[in-house]
Amino acid sequence: MKIKSAEFTISAVKPEQYPEGNQPEIALAGRSNVGKSSLINRMLNRRNLARTSSKPGKTQTLNYYHINQQFYFVDLPGYGFARVPQAIKAQWSKMIEHYLSKRENLKLVLQLVDIRHAPSKEDVAMYEWLNHYGLPKVVIATKADKISRGQWQKHMKIIRNALQMDPSVPFIPFSAETGQGKEELWNVITSFIDT
Ligand code: GDP
Repeated sequence: MKIKSAEFTISAVKPEQYPEGNQPEIALAGRSNVGKSSLINRMLNRRNLARTSSKPGKTQTLNYYHINQQFYFVDLPGYGFARVPQAIKAQWSKMIEHYLSKRENLKLVLQLVDIRHAPSKEDVAMYEWLNHYGLPKVVIATKADKISRGQWQKHMKIIRNALQMDPSVPFIPFSAETGQGKEELWNVITSFIDT
């Protein structure tokens, strides 16, 4: 994918703020700190477009990035941040669920999990949601540079089992640090958007 333009469009807190038109949207889901901002920056060859923030609670909105004027990345609020009050967590899930179940422009969900750890309860719940809504998905094992390549399969098997992944779902080891997985992920993404 040649990135001709990439710009931040809006932090949406309600559906009225989602962009008009019918350009395809690719959503990113994952717990806070899993590496969503870093993946966006790496995929778009931008150092700082999606802020990699040390304050995970900051991302409570749907952040839209417009790419090549043709499609969007939508960064969903990171889940599982312990210090967030229950009421706010409930509000986030409502917003995410509404988006996932109703948004017609949504073509593919990238579900990010840290390659080093077994998926959390929230990761499993997210995967089940995506199944429930019949949404096409890719699972991305982030921070692959943090373990040796020889360990990848073992860790990915643990994730695959915990999520009860269908073997047909693409599963990509990714590193924002080295660019590992970038090309494979673009291949999957472009197969879901006809640009
Ligand atoms: P987000 O909260 O999901 O947007 O996560 P960030 O992208 O802000 O990343 C959280 C932390 O993990 C930051 O300190 C990043 O530098 C680090 N990180 C993210 N992706 C990678 C990766 O692929 N490799 C390494 N080594 N660190 C990463």
